[in-house]
Amino acid sequence: MSRIRQHVRGSRRLATTGVAVSSAALLAVALSPAAHAAPRPTRAAAVQHATSALRAHASSLGLDSAQATSVRDVIVDKDGSQHVRYDRTYHRLPVLGGDFVVHLGPDGGYRGADRASRAALALPSTMPEVSAPEAADLATNALRAANLGNRLRQVKAKPQLIVDALHGTPRLAWRTDAVALDSLGNPVARTVLTDARTGARIDAWDSIETATGDGRSLYSGTVPLETTQSGSSYQLKDPTRGNTYTGDAANKTDLCIFGICISRAPSTVFTDTDNHWGTGATSDRSSAAVDAQYGTDETWDYYKNVHGRNGIAGDGKGSYNRVHYGSNYNNAFWDDSCFCMTYGDGDGTTFGPLVALDVAGHEMSHGVTSKTAGLTYSGESGGLNEATSDILGTMVEWY
Ligand SMILES: [Zn+2]
Repeated sequence: MSRIRQHVRGSRRLATTGVAVSSAALLAVALSPAAHAAPRPTRAAAVQHATSALRAHASSLGLDSAQATSVRDVIVDKDGSQHVRYDRTYHRLPVLGGDFVVHLGPDGGYRGADRASRAALALPSTMPEVSAPEAADLATNALRAANLGNRLRQVKAKPQLIVDALHGTPRLAWRTDAVALDSLGNPVARTVLTDARTGARIDAWDSIETATGDGRSLYSGTVPLETTQSGSSYQLKDPTRGNTYTGDAANKTDLCIFGICISRAPSTVFTDTDNHWGTGATSDRSSAAVDAQYGTDETWDYYKNVHGRNGIAGDGKGSYNRVHYGSNYNNAFWDDSCFCMTYGDGDGTTFGPLVALDVAGHEMSHGVTSKTAGLTYSGESGGLNEATSDILGTMVEWY
């Protein structure tokens, strides 16, 4: 049954957040071993060490003058060991499977490298015989075939000429990302690898992948976000937490009578091109979405790490959030019938968007209660239901 619950605690929320920050800072000082440990090499130092190692070991890594490398990622371990990941080009074309990782000791000394492919890079030509539009057509056909029965719109394909070193002898290929919106408005994507000489398909896969981004929230500062890569864009959907996602309700409302919903506001998943979400201000619709998604993440983690519960229902499946529900809507609510969270924007006078962390923890705890004790929302059991959410919502915030 769909129920709407009031819980809005603006000024208290700000006060408790201030306390949480200062006690966390004290803890960090008390636990920090930094005063006794040797300083960890910086990322810049790691890159410098790796650059020297590349020069010294170029031939054993299969590098020659036709190739160029660029740093993609740097990891410095606690003990000072360094790992620098490189991408590779061949005559300026990206090499799929050309990436490799250089490992260095705490002193910066070369310890070895891991390569995705050991195949030698030597191509007769870098001129394709299959044109870019032909490659695009092949990819959009593959996307349609993978989504049969689903009416796709805004279908786009972007071919990129590359060298494929992952599938046998390195060859010239088109790597084409085809993207579209499905009938629900959610992006679908497929990456197709085509032999640029013969037009034969080498490989194809759904290009929906996990990515780590960040967001500038309204109430919790800059926060990390696990997202889903879909072609060249990102969805605010967390594959590491049961595919929980956050969508835009487009200021529409549900039409429900006695708990039966005739129509629902949309929940169009938020997308972003650079995986840096929101601006920390309400002028960007993604900012409130960052808070909602972060609230779900923290609530998920709290229940998992503290109580060993895998998701709100305990089944590992994520719920979803809708933000920008209705107009000047001063509330947020959990709804069992959609197993989803909904947040209003507030009226802008008394309340801003109702997406603070303790609100998320409170509301989703109603979901836990409904899947466990099932406390009726009236009388004494209703009071216990509400109190449980208040307590656990605060636990989430402090966690
Ligand atoms: Zn409540």
